[in-house]
Amino acid sequence: MLLFLSVHSCTKTTPKVDVDICPDNEIVYVFPLKEKVHIEDLDCDFKIQGDIDDWLDKKFLRFSRHLTQERKDQIGMMIHNELKWVGIIDDHPDLPLLNGILDQMEFLIDTKEEYQLYILESEVVNAVTHIGRRIYLTKGLIDTLAMDAIVSCIGHELGHHLNGNCEEKARIFDMLDRNRIPIGSNPGVPKIIQSVLKETALKLYHDVNQVLSKSDEIEADLIGLYLCSALGYDPEIALEAVAEHKYWEHPQDRNVFQNIFNEFNSTHPDWRDRYECAKAYIASAKIDISCDCSKGSIQGLVLKEEKVYQYPSHFAPNVGVLHKHQPMEVICTFANPNFQNTEYDEWCYIQYESGTGWVAEKYIRILE
Ligand SMILES: [Zn+2]
Repeated sequence: MLLFLSVHSCTKTTPKVDVDICPDNEIVYVFPLKEKVHIEDLDCDFKIQGDIDDWLDKKFLRFSRHLTQERKDQIGMMIHNELKWVGIIDDHPDLPLLNGILDQMEFLIDTKEEYQLYILESEVVNAVTHIGRRIYLTKGLIDTLAMDAIVSCIGHELGHHLNGNCEEKARIFDMLDRNRIPIGSNPGVPKIIQSVLKETALKLYHDVNQVLSKSDEIEADLIGLYLCSALGYDPEIALEAVAEHKYWEHPQDRNVFQNIFNEFNSTHPDWRDRYECAKAYIASAKIDISCDCSKGSIQGLVLKEEKVYQYPSHFAPNVGVLHKHQPMEVICTFANPNFQNTEYDEWCYIQYESGTGWVAEKYIRILE
């Protein structure tokens, strides 16, 4: 597919490419999935978790009802009020910066919803969110993790909202909440059961999480990594920093039976599986652009109406459109190894009347 370039390199009349036009040789991440991720779309082998979750979701959602905005806000406030018991740090020096990052994410995903970030007075490294458009990071998380990882954690929590997880959980919460008080207050019910039924909203929410979040976590991880990268932070540094912390939590020397038991029992899939999945996903999105402009530009025509992309990937942002037979200049070409042996493996960086950008080589005819 690079044949035309080798022929072209022998041509003496080739116009030199202006250095300003030549694309930067840089590393970029172009994620195929953005603010919505479904486990079925992933290459990672999590089909069983996905199937179990789908089955549970269907069962639970059948018994739950659609929530009004008023009820959602009410549930959000119940949980928020209980999280206040943990302690919310209103004057943490990083709070404006972190809320600013959350605002940038809102801008990026073009949502009308406004989210608020809070910092909890806890040394445990953790983050949580719920239906009330509130995201909580612990002080321990902020003190422990690198900024790239903190940003990916904010993105992960926001991802739970974008993927609809918070809405689903609120419906289950609502169903349990509507039933717990009357039964719990009935003097005929044994004391031990009353105490369970009278548990706090926070505990109730935690219980809901226990049954409904295996695949949600992997999906939110990938949304978090996309948002982290889109804001200019490094998703690889983020993943490694979170992984390093998680490895402390889950020592490697557990025996195989403990691993199986823990996996079966835990809300979240084993961290190592999540890590491997996220690592492979980042690798599939990473493009080390290197485009050699020294050979000079060549004239070409577009074969059909086609989009121009910011980076050499059809998952990259769209920066323009080329019309059929529109003339343009090919500045340089790049083989994207992520699409090896597919129709999108070769890309041309072009200049046309409206600007510059990348087009798949298959849509261009070179004029000799
Ligand atoms: Zn999560």
